Amino acid sequence: MTQTLTIPRPDDWHLHLRDGAMLAGIAPESARHFARAIIMPNLVPPVVTGADAAAYHGRIRAVTGAGFTPLMTLYLTEATDPADLVAAHAQGIITAVKLYPAGATTNSASGVRDFDRMRPVFEAMAEAGIPLLCHGEVTDPEIDIFDREAVFIDRVLDPIRRRTPALRVVMEHITTADAVAYVHSQPENLGATITTHHLVINRNHILVGGIKPHYYCLPVAKRETHRQALLSAATSGDARFFLGTDSAPHTDDAKESACGCAGCFTATNTMSILAQVFDDAGALDKLEGFASRNGPGFYRLPVNEGTLTLEKTDTPVIYPAKIETGAGPVTVFDPGFPLYWRVL
Ligand SMILES: [Zn+2]
Repeated sequence: MTQTLTIPRPDDWHLHLRDGAMLAGIAPESARHFARAIIMPNLVPPVVTGADAAAYHGRIRAVTGAGFTPLMTLYLTEATDPADLVAAHAQGIITAVKLYPAGATTNSASGVRDFDRMRPVFEAMAEAGIPLLCHGEVTDPEIDIFDREAVFIDRVLDPIRRRTPALRVVMEHITTADAVAYVHSQPENLGATITTHHLVINRNHILVGGIKPHYYCLPVAKRETHRQALLSAATSGDARFFLGTDSAPHTDDAKESACGCAGCFTATNTMSILAQVFDDAGALDKLEGFASRNGPGFYRLPVNEGTLTLEKTDTPVIYPAKIETGAGPVTVFDPGFPLYWRVL
């Protein structure tokens, strides 16, 4: 008998849609399966005001149509006006605010250097119930790239949590056992997103047998023990862990270069990969929580009314190796193992 799994339509709580020809080429890949997504604001220039967010929302909807709801975020800078931010949230223009330490990842040059200066903004956000979404890596050149998440927790995140305990925080795309442990140590107003690719790859996948630019992302994948910790968290049923794919397209020429860009593009096959990973872990019954229920729970939004059905097949499902866009081809993440689950 064919095995199927029907879940409420999933959401993606961390997504990069870019702009222009890239947006037009890749947004349908997310809209096909996901009902909503938290849209990252790291465009060039970044989305820093409510007006920027409203305009970007319009450009996304022009591509996806009304069946997909982009939940907009603002890019926090040291010049962010708390009043604009609170007003944009009150009007329903934005859902959350993204914190990038300056220089942490793609297009993050405008990010925050002095976290103490942001305290009035954090206080205003706590008061209004606006979540702060953290790219959790320090950018101190003295800190090893594999340690940057753990050091961020100690140096930046924990002090913010202590000074503004009512602030609702999401640790984005966590990659370490340290981050999982930190979530467990904190009250319910701290959540964490986990990507598809960090459940699949460790740093060997990037570096052993030749460098694999399409597995390079930030935060960079860590050693296998950390991947195991992420897998345990995602499949545990703990409502503070939910899906944020961090699907982040770059054209192949930008990835396959002497200085390749960071990002894995997983929008196309994420639900198949997750079903396979959860099935292999004996935790298929936890996929619904991770992909469809825990995120809305944290964001205080209703679970989607529509459904998505996955079917387990006898022969592996083949996804396109690349998505052709007006900006150039984008390689779809290859999990490196066969996928027997497909979305109906
Ligand atoms: Zn991201």
